[in-house]
Amino acid sequence: MTLEKSIYELTEEELKSFLSANDISPDFSATIFRNLYKKNKHEQPISKKIMALLSKNFTLDLPKIHTVSKSPDGTVKFLMEFSDGKSVETVLIPFHKRFTVCLSSQVGCAMKCSFCYTGTMGLSRHLKSSEIIGQYIVAANYLDTELGLKTMSPNIVFMGQGEPLHNSTEVLKAINVFMEPLGLGMGPRQMTLSTAGYLPGIKKLNDFPKINIALSLHSPFNDIRKELIPINQHFPLEDIFEALDGLDLMKRQFIVYEYLLIDGLNDRVEDADELLKLLGERKSAINIIPFNPFPGSKYKRPSDARVEEFKEMLVERKLRTMIRTTKGSDILAACGQLKS
Ligand code: SF4
Repeated sequence: MTLEKSIYELTEEELKSFLSANDISPDFSATIFRNLYKKNKHEQPISKKIMALLSKNFTLDLPKIHTVSKSPDGTVKFLMEFSDGKSVETVLIPFHKRFTVCLSSQVGCAMKCSFCYTGTMGLSRHLKSSEIIGQYIVAANYLDTELGLKTMSPNIVFMGQGEPLHNSTEVLKAINVFMEPLGLGMGPRQMTLSTAGYLPGIKKLNDFPKINIALSLHSPFNDIRKELIPINQHFPLEDIFEALDGLDLMKRQFIVYEYLLIDGLNDRVEDADELLKLLGERKSAINIIPFNPFPGSKYKRPSDARVEEFKEMLVERKLRTMIRTTKGSDILAACGQLKS
């Protein structure tokens, strides 16, 4: 289905070219960008003439909020609906007086990870860059207007529904727009992209700005990982690590390895030993995420004591390790629990 072209998919350069082609000074791009992204009350409004031109050529629509769920821990989950009626979930996660927005990159997901609620849906379609950006604007506006929170711009994690590198062209376009100085002006390190290990996409990461990269590792053994992440059959760990080793990382940048800890499956001493072999010499940090059950899931969450024990096993092996505090699990907004 061809969707209308959205104003939100344009970089400032593209907007300038459009204005020039329509005999309008490209200098007006700054006013347009600030109105679209900054919403500063003192900003000069877009003139009627330019507004009419933009409306004739682009849609200025943002996703609509269909449903909002709030957790007592401050997490807010939105079901956002696009113009074709498809919807995705977007999550605002509070963290140290700031918020992070977890963005979806696809409607559903083709990767079918066995621990993931989204994976049970299959892929419906890729999101356009404007739909990815739209989720951010709507969530940030909600913080401001509904919650009255004047915080700094929320950081971004591409960890919602979908495999972002399976839709790498649109995700890269969105990242470039997020970084526009006259728009949101985000720095690349304010954004984290998490991949399940989609190798063709990992090979393109050197073309991206230097955003943070996370790999859903979940097991250092191919046979277990294949059960959790079926694309591991096509893209085994050796190939993924060869591609990751080829990334130009910044001096102090390391790759985060997400490790969904599942009771009795990947929390053993041999897992810790193998993780040491795999990551000991690499610029890495391990992020342990205790599994979040969802309706019908076959895995169990380990006890808090077991999570701590496993972390200690890794720390003893001198692996940089953290435990991610689960937010929003009561409203199915935690990692792997999203479903439209
Ligand atoms: S974990 Fe991510 S990549 Fe895997 S099925 Fe869920 S959304 Fe897709």
